[in-house]
Amino acid sequence: MAGREPVSIIQAGGNIVATITPIIMFGAAGRMGRMILECAASSDRPYQVVAALDRAEHPGIGQPLATLIPSAPPSLLLAAALPESVPNGTVAIDFTTPDSTMAMLDWIEATGASAVIGTTGLEKKHIDRIAETADKVPVVFAPNMSVGVNVLYELVAKAVALLGDPYDVEIIEMHHRFKRDAPSGTAKRLADVVIEARGGNQTTDIRHGRMGLPGERTSSEIGMHCIRGGDVVGDHTVSFSTLGERVELTHKASTRETFARGALRAAAWVSGKEAGLYSMKDVLGI
Ligand code: NAD
Repeated sequence: MAGREPVSIIQAGGNIVATITPIIMFGAAGRMGRMILECAASSDRPYQVVAALDRAEHPGIGQPLATLIPSAPPSLLLAAALPESVPNGTVAIDFTTPDSTMAMLDWIEATGASAVIGTTGLEKKHIDRIAETADKVPVVFAPNMSVGVNVLYELVAKAVALLGDPYDVEIIEMHHRFKRDAPSGTAKRLADVVIEARGGNQTTDIRHGRMGLPGERTSSEIGMHCIRGGDVVGDHTVSFSTLGERVELTHKASTRETFARGALRAAAWVSGKEAGLYSMKDVLGI
């Protein structure tokens, strides 16, 4: 089993100048996996890519990773087999699918690696399983790793508290045509933020779209609307409206780099931490 302490780069004078974060990328051939590996190669912080993993059926398995990511070291191959042991301080970064995330949890428990989980579309049973694993190893779990969205959560909670009950809340998200899950993990989190700030109940309060004759909206419900199309990286708006005025808080991601840099920052932060379930709020110190 790997130790938690990451490896430090020590200068000749004995001063620690940097700490290397070993990472294992789960979903390395995907949109986010490729972006994270590219950002790791160009980052000021040192990351060591221990393995780049994807599903066994992926056509690139066994091929040099450099065919997908030009900055990858020529010796690194896209692999499907999980390493049996890993260097101290290793962090598994997961941007895959819920089933794959569950399989990864068994592996991090066995190896003692930490994890950064960005996969969305997870159900309660999956989230409960992540919490169980986090009793044994440190895990950062966040449906959105961008600084801006994590600030948006805070602004939304503040808006709920300041505006109060007469404001109707609707959440609108838009993503690229390839996105599989809906609503986005971020939209679900935004709804939770509103519910927590109101002290309400999630199961009765969320209205996923409207059609036919749904009747007048109730003041307690939260409308949730998902738009899919083109190459939109991720837009989220929370609209607060009442008779006579509307306040809208919007975040728009224009590149996946913002999530990738957040995931790498989370990996450097969680490497060597105590077991526990952490969020980007912990990583960013918000
Ligand atoms: P993608 O489909 O491009 O990539 C997913 C990759 O996972 C694919 O290469 C696929 O082959 C691989 N995969 C599937 N099963 C696997 C397995 N068992 N083992 C290893 N690899 C496996 O998707 P994407 O756009 O990269 O997004 C991935 C996930 O990350 C989605 O759930 C998405 O919503 C989420 N996401 C989260 C954030 C965030 O900030 N948290 C940001 C963007 C996307």
